[in-house]
Amino acid sequence: MTVLLMPGDDVPAWSTVRDAHGLEQMAHAADGWCVALDRDSLRCSIYARRPRICRDFAMGGEDCRAERRDWYGAHGDAAEERGGG
Ligand code: SF4
Repeated sequence: MTVLLMPGDDVPAWSTVRDAHGLEQMAHAADGWCVALDRDSLRCSIYARRPRICRDFAMGGEDCRAERRDWYGAHGDAAEERGGG
């Protein structure tokens, strides 16, 4: 998932990249996940400074469920169907 940064976002510089069009966004690690995600706790390591898009993203909302469907579909895992939101 691409998290574009908006005017007023104040995330740490180490966590961002610019795409080919010059738009600033959260960087992804080699595993494809956001670099700010703490891999041990699966929590946002910059929670207090997370981008506006992350603040507005409703856990369990339609966008969230669509992301889960895409991820589980790409990874061939039926776990989403067993208990995901
Ligand atoms: S909530 Fe935190 S870890 Fe998740 S995408 Fe946003 S910045 Fe990255």
